[in-house]
Amino acid sequence: MTRSILEVVRRKRDGRELTGSEIDHLVESIVDGTLADHQIGALLMAIYLRGLTEAETAELTRAMVRSGETLDLRSIVGFKADKHSTGGVGDKVTLVLGPLVAAAGVKFPKLSGRGLAHTGGTLDKLESIPGMRVDLTLDELLDQVRHIGLAVTGQTAELVPADGIIYALRDQTATVDSIPLIASSVMSKKIAAGADGIVLDVKCGSGAFMKTLNSARELANLMVAIGKSAGKRTVAMITSMDTPLGNAIGNALEVGEAIQTLHGSGPADLEAEVIAFGSCIVEMAGISAGEDAQSLLREKLRDGSAAAKLAEMIEWQGGDSRVVDQPSLLPSAQRVIPVTSSVAGYVQSIDGLSIGMIGMDLGAGRRAKGEPVSPSAGVVLRAKPSSAEVQAGDVLAELHMPPDHELHHPIPPLDELQERLRRAYRFGSQPAPESPSILAVIH
Ligand code: URA
Repeated sequence: MTRSILEVVRRKRDGRELTGSEIDHLVESIVDGTLADHQIGALLMAIYLRGLTEAETAELTRAMVRSGETLDLRSIVGFKADKHSTGGVGDKVTLVLGPLVAAAGVKFPKLSGRGLAHTGGTLDKLESIPGMRVDLTLDELLDQVRHIGLAVTGQTAELVPADGIIYALRDQTATVDSIPLIASSVMSKKIAAGADGIVLDVKCGSGAFMKTLNSARELANLMVAIGKSAGKRTVAMITSMDTPLGNAIGNALEVGEAIQTLHGSGPADLEAEVIAFGSCIVEMAGISAGEDAQSLLREKLRDGSAAAKLAEMIEWQGGDSRVVDQPSLLPSAQRVIPVTSSVAGYVQSIDGLSIGMIGMDLGAGRRAKGEPVSPSAGVVLRAKPSSAEVQAGDVLAELHMPPDHELHHPIPPLDELQERLRRAYRFGSQPAPESPSILAVIH
């Protein structure tokens, strides 16, 4: 490390505001290897403890975007929209939203990620569709979006290499949940991906990185400010992650539920979130606004055009598109174990983190980066917060046990999983009050 770069790290350690050129110098030194991993770790901890101002975070984001290639979407005619979720349990919004807005005329070139820890990832879910490719080249991505308006594929190494290095080190230095580091990580990738408009789903609650509404609001405000300073139309919605979204948690299970939602018969909470994000996108695109936007999108679910768009995308990406009409062709569990309630009462909430961890232990998620995941494993919630009373002995949920060949680590004993699942449910003596899944919208 040269003296001057050490001086920049020291200035942040002492709580000073860094200049744009100091931040540029830091990011260049991270990417060209001048800074060793332990030195980057020290910088990240200084940022974690001292924070970054909004101006510093915007500079960091810009420097990260400049660290690699950016996608040039100008050859695609029409409004290009992108979406990002900060990660949740049962969050299959992209799988429904992409085909839906594409069916409404928006272009949706989406670079997605894999699940880590208890949160699922869109790529792992898509890969549960037999034959599906999620490693499109940038040319394939552009060509597909030009033809059908929609592609969902993996982030390439050429885009924002600084994030790849920083994210891996955050994971190892207890600095993941830093608001400026999350904001710069998310927004650098969104800006580099080149869309005209960005919608951000900031998850808040036990199953999310942001546990409180205040911290979710701070992150959402910061990301919207960064998006706008980069000339992108940006809207963030803070959505509840105290209870998992929809009923299915697990890769093929979530694809199945997304397909059901595209056919107009999905869980109400999932459909409501998809319509909210979709309306925001079609409004940004100037296609429709307000209640008209919602009616347009509901019509696309009803008339089959959104489901047909998913089938087209699957076909273009080498997958078996028959799954859209025959979800039974998706991988399925070897055994389905019901978990019954030991008490009577009204479900108030279901702890997202606990359910995510059970899904992960069954093989739906990975315990370490790079580990394979099981397509068929997961959890299906049969009782959710509602006005219906649960009786002792009623089924609360099902554990979907994968076949042996999909297992990459031992599964904990069944009675332990069943007990953990029961404990994730919180009961009350009255029906749970209606709680909106969209907690705030930040323009
Ligand atoms: N998602 C990202 O891409 N980066 C983060 O830091 C957190 C969530």
